[in-house]
Amino acid sequence: MEFGWTDEECKRYLARPENISILEDLILNKVIEMANLGNGRPLPEILETRKLTTHYDGSLQDILETVKPFVLDILDYPKDVHCNALPISEYLRLESSATKKIIALLGGFAGAFLGTYIGSDPGFGLILPSAFGAGAGYVIGALPAKKRAKRIEKCLESGGVCHQGNVYLAPSSKDNLLSVAAHEYTHRVQVDVSQGSLSNTSFSEGHANGVQLKVLRKLYQRDGSLENSLIEALYFNVLNLTHGYLWSCGSNQQVPNEKIANFVKFTMLHPYAIGQSVLDLLENESGPEIYSQVLKEKL
Ligand SMILES: [Zn+2]
Repeated sequence: MEFGWTDEECKRYLARPENISILEDLILNKVIEMANLGNGRPLPEILETRKLTTHYDGSLQDILETVKPFVLDILDYPKDVHCNALPISEYLRLESSATKKIIALLGGFAGAFLGTYIGSDPGFGLILPSAFGAGAGYVIGALPAKKRAKRIEKCLESGGVCHQGNVYLAPSSKDNLLSVAAHEYTHRVQVDVSQGSLSNTSFSEGHANGVQLKVLRKLYQRDGSLENSLIEALYFNVLNLTHGYLWSCGSNQQVPNEKIANFVKFTMLHPYAIGQSVLDLLENESGPEIYSQVLKEKL
C-alpha cells in the first residue's frame, strides 16, 4: 500500500488559486513564531549554533525513546513500532560494503560482455564493442553508485536516515538529535503503515517534517528547551512553504508578494517543498488530526 499522495496529486491540490492567500498567512504566522522564539537574536547566529555545539555522546536509543511517545501520540498510532537507533557511520559502512562494490564491478563486466556481444557483428569492428561495453557498464555499475552517493550526501546533510527499520543519526548536539530522530521515526511509522513499500516522496517528507515540528514544539512547551532546533525547523518549513507559494503563484499567473519572494532569493527549490506546502494546507483546512488521518486512509 502506497503512503499519501503522488507528486502529481500534490501539485494539482497546490495549484488551487485559493491556496495563495492561505500560504501567505501560514508563512507570516511561522515567521512571527520564529521571531518570538529568537527574542531579537539574528537568525544566522541561531542557525550557526548547530555547527558550534558539542556532540552528544550518550545513548542514541535513549534519544529515539524520548521522541517516540510524542510521535506516536501525534500520529495516533496504536503500535510501538520497533526500531533501533544507530550511528550514521554504521549506515555509511553498510552502504559502502564489499558486497555492493562487487555488484557494481560485476555490473561493469556484464556491461562490457553485453557490449562485445551486441557489437560482435564483423561490420562494427573493435571500437563499437568497447563503446557499448563502457556505456552499458556505466549504466549498470556506475549510475546506481552515483545515485547512492547522492542519497548518502542528502542524509548527512539532514543529519539522519531511516533505512530497513533502523534510524541512523549523524553526530550532533542532543537537541538536534532529538529533532532528527522525530523526523526519522515518523518515516519508520510510514514504512510500517505502507508495509515496507514506502517510496521517498515529497508528501512523505512533508508529513515527517510536520510531525518533527510538532514534537519540537511539545518538547519546548514541556521543558523550555530545544529553542534553537525549533527555530531551525521553522526556518526550513518557511523556506519550503515559500517555494510552494511561489510555485502556486506561478501556476496561477499571479505576482507574488515581494517580501515573501525575497525570503527565498538565494535558495534553490527543494524537491520536498511541494509536499510540505500541501501538508500545511491540509492541516489548515482539517486540523492537526490530518497527520494521523493520512496514515489510516488515502485522502
Ligand atoms: Zn525525511
